[in-house]
Amino acid sequence: MTGTVVDRELPTPEAADLLELTRDLAARELQPRADKSEAAGSFPRELFAHLGELGLLSLPYPEKFGGGGQPAVVYLQVLEELARGWSTIALGTSVHVLSCSAVAEFGTPDQQETFLPEMLGGSTLGAYCLSEAHAGSDAGAMRTEAVREGGDEGGYVITGDKAWITHGPVADFMLVAARTDGERVPGGGSAGISTFLVPGSAPGLTAGVPERKMGFRASPTSQVRFDGVRVGVDRRIGDEGQGFRIAMAALDAGRLGISACAVGLAQAALDVAADYAGRRIAFGRPIDEFQGVSFLLADAATQVTAARQLYLYAARRKDAGRTFSTEAAMAKLTATDMAMKVTTDMVQVLGGAGYVEDYPLERYMREAKVLQIVEGTNQIQRMVIARSLKHPGHRS
Ligand SMILES: Cc1cc2nc3c(=O)[nH]c(=O)nc-3n(C[C@H](O)[C@H](O)[C@H](O)COP(=O)(O)OP(=O)(O)OC[C@H]3O[C@@H](n4cnc5c(N)ncnc54)[C@H](O)[C@@H]3O)c2cc1C
Repeated sequence: MTGTVVDRELPTPEAADLLELTRDLAARELQPRADKSEAAGSFPRELFAHLGELGLLSLPYPEKFGGGGQPAVVYLQVLEELARGWSTIALGTSVHVLSCSAVAEFGTPDQQETFLPEMLGGSTLGAYCLSEAHAGSDAGAMRTEAVREGGDEGGYVITGDKAWITHGPVADFMLVAARTDGERVPGGGSAGISTFLVPGSAPGLTAGVPERKMGFRASPTSQVRFDGVRVGVDRRIGDEGQGFRIAMAALDAGRLGISACAVGLAQAALDVAADYAGRRIAFGRPIDEFQGVSFLLADAATQVTAARQLYLYAARRKDAGRTFSTEAAMAKLTATDMAMKVTTDMVQVLGGAGYVEDYPLERYMREAKVLQIVEGTNQIQRMVIARSLKHPGHRS
């Protein structure tokens, strides 16, 4: 893999080893396969299995349930190195971790003991089902319903269509948000929503054809239909009506994952462009001797470093048990806008070579775009940040 080793502050020698292992994996096994798989749109399931064997799919969760017991500052830097090698792998890891978070944080001890070992064991992959075709930014307008049947011994019947689900066609389990208030009208509000852990193989659950996307083509995104899917009460995570809060808490942590993916992607673009600019000759000199080019590289290096520090700041707050929702929104906004700008500028550094598939830069630029959209668009991040300015006392 092109590029220097990023100078990182890591809390333990074990964390330093983990980062080294990840860099090595990214250089040897991810980056060499990325271009071809993305062009073919083929999902690298076996690479996720390999990550699972290495323990990289469950780093931020307790060791007693099969997790890696790592703080967010370590997990996110691992994610960043994965993204530097292949964004689809980093995004998929982030989505899987997000899908486990509700059980890990809001599940009862019984639910944690029953479900987490398999979810964190490395051989399964999760999906997070919040969005619907008519309810993306306004997720509280969802229509998918979970109707209670059979009293305390019974369960729920889930019916509805989720949209844009990463890992929709391949997930082994899904964290699903659905209405339990019987409120069918759009805009019915977030108060009547609950969350459920649904097996990917549940009868009545079907995934649509993967969307044909601008980027991340190796990462399957599809609709998921719930046609009378039955789950027991033991699969409701949290109380009835608590689901929106659970889904939003998961997104706070997920946004840090997206920030780390964006920084890794931008770092990869900078690595390729800096190397190219030192070798490409124009007017008898390497182009990195022209200020017009070297300033693009200098700005990119500065922006990548700044965005990395912002997600690490939010991660340190999370690790210390402090609120981090606003800081996660700031990190996601900054890192993903940065990745869009840096990948675009690095295409410019390569000139025509940046625009063709001989180099990965045009792909990086396409991949950066969706990071400004997923897990809350950057307009929604600004809303979260602006709201915190009106209620500053709520943060600690
Ligand atoms: C590749 C991909 C993977 C995804 N993976 C998942 C997944 O795994 N699980 C999942 O649940 N969802 C997933 N999503 C869905 C994603 O979270 C939504 O696309 C996103 O939240 C935006 O919703 P929307 O597409 O409906 O856009 P809309 O909500 O229709 O927004 C359209 C535009 O209006 C703006 N807008 C909307 N409301 C406001 C407002 N109040 N103020 C200012 N601007 C506003 C938006 O910012 C946006 O620019 C994925 C999407 C993509 C593209």
